[in-house]
Amino acid sequence: MLTPQYLFADITRITPQFLRQKGITALLLDVDNTLTAHGSQQLPRAVEGWLETMKQNGIRLLIVSNNTEQRVAPFADRIGVGHISMGCKPLPLGLARARRRLGVQRRQLALVGDQLFTDRLAGWNYGIPVLVVQPLAPDTHRGIRFRRHLEQPFIRRYFKKGGQLL
Ligand SMILES: [Mg+2]
Repeated sequence: MLTPQYLFADITRITPQFLRQKGITALLLDVDNTLTAHGSQQLPRAVEGWLETMKQNGIRLLIVSNNTEQRVAPFADRIGVGHISMGCKPLPLGLARARRRLGVQRRQLALVGDQLFTDRLAGWNYGIPVLVVQPLAPDTHRGIRFRRHLEQPFIRRYFKKGGQLL
């Protein structure tokens, strides 16, 4: 339940073709270290292009972040994507709210995020696939650095089971 099902080098590696193959039409997006560096309001140029590609391909997008409204709302508004802050991942509550807001079936939905103990586990709890991405920037937050350490056995397990870095 913590081992990634899919591990991407970064969010821009997720293609419309990949999503189409899996029947995924909507993505719930983590913010910190998935779309931008932790706490940053900057949108990397490559991620901006990726968001555009997703929108052009009819992929519905909604941000679900555990961070505060104050941190998430300005960023979400700037990139033109709806948002849910204080998402309570790994609990499935925020994901359920997001699914209702998007009006899609659970089988059409996937979560994109960088942390196994919040994002990966939330997807498992809610029964949707998680497209795990490698963190965008090195972690400066001590608590997160410690969790990264705890994530390593599960990352190794992904590769041992034949998983590729997508
Ligand atoms: Mg994150």
